[in-house]
Amino acid sequence: MTADAQGSTASVGKAAVAVLLGAAIFIVDTLTPLDYAIAVLYVLVVLLSADFLEERGIWSVAFICIGLTVVGFLVGHVENFTTGAVVRFAISLCAIMVAAFLELSNKSANGRLASQAALLDLTHDAIFVRDPANIITYWNRGAEQLYGWTAGDAVGRHANDLLKTRFPADLARINACLIESGRWEGEVTQTKRDGSDVTIQSRWSLQRDRHGKARATMETNSDVTQHRAAEQNLRKAQAELAHVTRVTTLGELAASIAHETSQPLAAIVSNGEAGMRWLNREAPNVDAAKASLEKMVGSARRAHEVIARLRALARRSDAELLPISLNEVIEECLALIHREMEDRRIELELSMDPSLPTILGDRVQLQQVIINLVMNAMQAMTRPGAPRLLRITTGAESADADMAVLQVIDTGTGFAPEVADKLFTAFQTTKTDGMGMGLSISRSIVEAHSGQISASPNPRGGAIFVVRLPVDRKRGEA
Ligand code: ADP
Repeated sequence: MTADAQGSTASVGKAAVAVLLGAAIFIVDTLTPLDYAIAVLYVLVVLLSADFLEERGIWSVAFICIGLTVVGFLVGHVENFTTGAVVRFAISLCAIMVAAFLELSNKSANGRLASQAALLDLTHDAIFVRDPANIITYWNRGAEQLYGWTAGDAVGRHANDLLKTRFPADLARINACLIESGRWEGEVTQTKRDGSDVTIQSRWSLQRDRHGKARATMETNSDVTQHRAAEQNLRKAQAELAHVTRVTTLGELAASIAHETSQPLAAIVSNGEAGMRWLNREAPNVDAAKASLEKMVGSARRAHEVIARLRALARRSDAELLPISLNEVIEECLALIHREMEDRRIELELSMDPSLPTILGDRVQLQQVIINLVMNAMQAMTRPGAPRLLRITTGAESADADMAVLQVIDTGTGFAPEVADKLFTAFQTTKTDGMGMGLSISRSIVEAHSGQISASPNPRGGAIFVVRLPVDRKRGEA
């Protein structure tokens, strides 16, 4: 049976009860000589009729009851017209009228509330209300569509049990924030009726009573599952692209890297040979052999470090934000590029602030940014006869020392100011063999670190690239 059919059967039942009750009151009132205001009981008939009738119907029932009261009064008291009977008659009439009036104003207030609540069904958001014990008291159509439970299924259930909500922080802390500010907003994971999980952007608003005590919480929830999945795919694609360009850059640096590894390897061989000679003497010089061995170990370590850095750069790994020193990251990059600089006869001026606070960063990603900026600067300084000065500086931003600032300044060709705002756009290149991805990837890396990257012309010719990264507050203060 549908809800409509059920409703009309119930109305017929109530109407029958009202008619029988009215008839019973009339018979008792008219035919029995009781000195009570029996007709007051017509109020019950009016109240019953309000459950299934509209305004006109309720007034009609009230007037019928008044008519029956009048008939009952006339029949019962026509020969015995006492003051008491008249008072009881008047009380009954008043009671019937007042009951009809109150029922009607109650009905219209309920109607207004119902139409306001119906507005909440128009929104696509899932909205539900829960009482302080977390029991659901209201569930809109959006919630029915999102979660799969009808209002009938959900109302009366414990919200967190029904939706198996997983919160981003301790629930006690979230509730404390809600009680204090009256609001909370965050991302939660919930389970739908079909068992699938959804990522929900949830906004809570607290309703308080006159004494400020929590009365109800309204949750407005929107499904951001697809949005988050798309973001994750985008991040994955960006990471893959960043990896490809990193490996491409390593290819460009192959000669420099080969030198950085072959040099310590050659040193290992020559120190090994020297050590052997010291030992093969007629009177072996153990101290000198030991010194050669120590140099061998030092060179082997250097080669190992270069290879370890290379492997880290070539590996495809997820970003990992750790407290790191920006100065150290720069030095690690220079160890790889150093030879390339020499080959290009670039003069390097390094000015690093030794008191620079630690930043929270992914070492490999930041190396990629720095290598890209330095490579671009070197590639811009190829004009014969022109100065080839590369300045790399670090420092804390003077305003509030909240930002670590890296500057890469060259004296190259520079770029026209009108293209400055397009430099960070993908596939913007002026190089015949360029991909135009370096700066665009650098920007996404820096922004993922909550930082900024910008470029401006160097007043003395060339370009200035500035990277600003937030310092790791916890470490910075320590
Ligand atoms: P690519 O190096 O493959 O061209 P990038 O995104 O790293 O890609 O650089 C985009 C463009 O920005 C370069 O082609 C160049 O025109 C310009 N550019 C970048 N750095 C500098 C610089 N230091 N001086 C002058 N122009 C630069």
